[in-house]
Amino acid sequence: MTESAEPAEDVREVDRGSGEEAPAREPEGPDIEPSPDFLREVEQATGQSLSACFQCKKCTCGCPLQEDVDFHPNRILRLIQFGQRDEVLRSKTIWLCLGCETCTQRCPNGVDLAAVMDYLRYAAVVEGIEPAEPRVRKFHEAFLESIRKYGRSHEIDMIRRYKFKTGTFFDSMAMGFDMFRKGKIKLMGHKIRDLDAFRQTFDRQKDKE
Ligand code: SF4
Ligand code: SF4
Repeated sequence: MTESAEPAEDVREVDRGSGEEAPAREPEGPDIEPSPDFLREVEQATGQSLSACFQCKKCTCGCPLQEDVDFHPNRILRLIQFGQRDEVLRSKTIWLCLGCETCTQRCPNGVDLAAVMDYLRYAAVVEGIEPAEPRVRKFHEAFLESIRKYGRSHEIDMIRRYKFKTGTFFDSMAMGFDMFRKGKIKLMGHKIRDLDAFRQTFDRQKDKE
């Protein structure tokens, strides 16, 4: 492990409720070259002071995905502080994050971790890094394509696009039917009024990326 990597005893996460180790992934070791500018890059892009994080883990304790991610949210912050760019941008965590902002609300230092996760996904896409959770990326694409078409979300259109992209035609059918029965999914979508102007703005933004 390089001098700038984390001490070994701090690698495993411990659930404060049960006292048991949670299944967070361990950094891969001495062959990871740190990127010294990574911390500054993320701080500048998000306007967050990530150096202020003192690893209290309040973010992780509130995260609904703490059992599913490979690095806990506080660990992602730590890896950024240590310039572990590759490890962070290839992690599942950045793609599984729901953007629920629970971590953001709980942080005593006011770190908007949800915004950091947004930027990390963006950075991974810009660098052409294959997402660790490819289906999540396809979900984002389906959502944006549907938004461009209607100017607002249209669940059936989005589901159709997602299913074609992933080939998961028969997954979650029972849940989908239940949602339809309860009126959570509408068959017909409504387009917004000034759709052309909306699409121009949408495309301009996409071109910037
Ligand atoms: S809650 Fe804030 S200070 Fe505590 S570990 Fe998470 S990001 Fe760091
Ligand atoms: S925004 Fe993401 S990292 Fe933060 S609590 Fe929600 S799922 Fe976890």
